[in-house]
Amino acid sequence: MHPNSLLTIDSLRREEIIDLLNDAYCFSNLYKDWHLSTNGPIANLFFENSTRTHYSFASAELQLGLKVEDMYPEFSSLTKGESLYDTCKTFEAIGYKALVIRNKQDEYFKQLTNINIPIINAGDGCGNHPSQCLLDLYTILEHFHRIKGLKVAIIGDIAHSRVANSDYQALKMFGADVTFSGPEEFKREGFPFTNIDEAIKSSDVVMLLRIQFERLEGPMHISKEEYHQKFGLTKQRYEMMKENSIIMHPAPVNRGLEIDSDLVEASKSKIFRQMTNGVLVRKAIIKRAFNEKPFSEKNSDWSF
Ligand code: ASP
Repeated sequence: MHPNSLLTIDSLRREEIIDLLNDAYCFSNLYKDWHLSTNGPIANLFFENSTRTHYSFASAELQLGLKVEDMYPEFSSLTKGESLYDTCKTFEAIGYKALVIRNKQDEYFKQLTNINIPIINAGDGCGNHPSQCLLDLYTILEHFHRIKGLKVAIIGDIAHSRVANSDYQALKMFGADVTFSGPEEFKREGFPFTNIDEAIKSSDVVMLLRIQFERLEGPMHISKEEYHQKFGLTKQRYEMMKENSIIMHPAPVNRGLEIDSDLVEASKSKIFRQMTNGVLVRKAIIKRAFNEKPFSEKNSDWSF
């Protein structure tokens, strides 16, 4: 595996995460127009649907001056049974310099250890989502200027969420107090659980997660209305949130289910801000993949 790959958040050292966040911050001001000295090319291989992750990677790649190719699995030799490994090896052989990959299989990247170009994981099944995690850290820092000591509640379909997994690893690493809430059937082993009202009242960050219907084995045993009342961010629960607290959600949002539709753009909501920050963070990840050193300027007032 290429050393500049990014597969899981816990494969990064704390200092490397700070460098990536700092580079992302530099891309918001001092280095807005900075681009790589190569034009790549880079390829985006999305074997699962995606709007934000796919197109914010594409936007980041174009802003960095890379030539970008998007592979559509249905028009590739995957339909003839070609493996993921042979597909990636082919991209390497024909001159691509890095790959951004999303796949529904947990830890699909374990099959790709003999690929010699950097691989950026854009989500593996219920496993990891390191770029989402970094943009979540960035969004929290932008508001609170620190992570240490913050109370974070992650609520919803924890069991199927790669975001819950990656965010938990990183938030713990930076000293946040993280708890989870939602239906029993969505609990994940080793993740601390709290009653939803308690979690919402006491948290600085309230992060809602989508029910991942595509990963459920059978139908939900609860109606949408009942789910919203029991486990969603209702208007009533919004009123219980702390004054300076924020709402996050990796999106796509099931409006009216995990969050009241009117709250998606409420004053506390950072949901669309997360998307904007995603481009900055993905620029930093790609810059690292192309072996560029972190920027030496540290111009944020964030404390770690
Ligand atoms: N966009 C996030 C992901 O790719 C969350 C979601 O799809 O619900 O994991």
